Amino acid sequence: MFVIIFGPPGAGKGTQAARIVQAHPIPQVATGDIFRKNLREGTALGIEAKGYMEAGKLVPDELVSKIVADRLQQDDCVAGALLDGFPRSLPQACFLDAWLAERGMAIGLVVHLVVPDSVIVERMGGRRTCTNCGATYHVSVSPTKVQGICDRCGSQVIQRPDDNEATVLTRLATYHEQTSPIVEHYRALGVVADVEGVGSIDRIGDHVIEAITKAFPV
Ligand code: ADP
Ligand code: ADP
Ligand code: ZN
Repeated sequence: MFVIIFGPPGAGKGTQAARIVQAHPIPQVATGDIFRKNLREGTALGIEAKGYMEAGKLVPDELVSKIVADRLQQDDCVAGALLDGFPRSLPQACFLDAWLAERGMAIGLVVHLVVPDSVIVERMGGRRTCTNCGATYHVSVSPTKVQGICDRCGSQVIQRPDDNEATVLTRLATYHEQTSPIVEHYRALGVVADVEGVGSIDRIGDHVIEAITKAFPV
């Protein structure tokens, strides 16, 4: 099963992805996490992505697409994957569809988290992210048990440099211009489930799991 968790920056993709992978045996493939890991390790890829990320712009399509294709070729993705943060442009979506089609597969579901911009800006101010495993928290809505320390892996939790208000506004503009048209692309294929992304994390999680169960009946 290939599932895309989709929505604007800060919609709760990572938060809900963590729940999905507990309920289904597929790995989460989060392009933002891959870039941040490369940045920490000082690889050529990390260095190339840095400027785009800091500016709130998209890393070029060919670069991102190649990284995702390499990742999807690994053994743990044979039964599928949960894509988080990819695709983020129509060319990326077309690349992904073609890559899967060549292997007799297709995207089975796009979970579209619907969250208005005003809510996003508020959420991002309070977001904290694990420097090691990418888990996300919120200072008031879902804080770490011990301040500054990741519940999941014990590493340091920080505010991402691109989670400042000015960059969040640029990322939202990038989302509306380049990323949101993907929803209509997949809606035409009949695979989009719109899920209200405002409300409690648990309740949204129930709706997300419901949408997946409906799309992939056992
Ligand atoms: P968020 O969780 O807030 O949506 P991500 O961690 O997914 O943010 O992405 C952070 C940054 O990494 C993006 O602003 C962009 O610069 C880059 N990035 C991540 N995924 C992609 C992608 N699929 N295409 C282009 N750039 C990407
Ligand atoms: P994304 O991966 O889409 O960028 P995250 O999952 O990192 O988004 O969530 C963004 C921020 O909003 C985090 O601080 C997270 O703890 C918080 N958050 C996630 N879901 C909700 C929700 N339903 N209500 C309030 N805050 C939320
Ligand atoms: Zn962690």
